[in-house]
Amino acid sequence: MAKDCLFCKIVNKEIDSDIVYEDDKVIVFKDINPKEPVHLLIVPKVHRESIMDLKKEDAELISHMVFVAQEIAKKYNIDDKEKGFNLLNNYGKEGGQEIDHLHVHFLAKSKPST
Ligand code: 5GP
Ligand code: ZN
Repeated sequence: MAKDCLFCKIVNKEIDSDIVYEDDKVIVFKDINPKEPVHLLIVPKVHRESIMDLKKEDAELISHMVFVAQEIAKKYNIDDKEKGFNLLNNYGKEGGQEIDHLHVHFLAKSKPST
């Protein structure tokens, strides 16, 4: 855990969030300021500052995050091609990264049907 990292505090449940999925490697919670009807953040439990801080040994973690996105899409019934979703990672000042703990935005225009 990185000191004074907001998302580490969310991972450790020191700060409340609306968690929709959790396992030993990642946590997924609702974005506090949603830009779409579904706006989730897929966050690794281990602290990595950004996509540029990933190492080769993080490859499994990153692929796991993609499979978690797949599970979320199924859970929200937006996995068929008529629906759909976006995965987004922001990096750097001009890229719009505000929280320096790696995260992938999961965005969808369709409200979950479950
Ligand atoms: P970034 O700009 O770093 O890619 O995205 C950070 C995201 O975290 C933003 O969409 C912002 O709304 C969200 N966020 C910031 N603080 C909190 C918080 O305390 N709780 C939750 N659930 N989301 C947050
Ligand atoms: Zn952190």
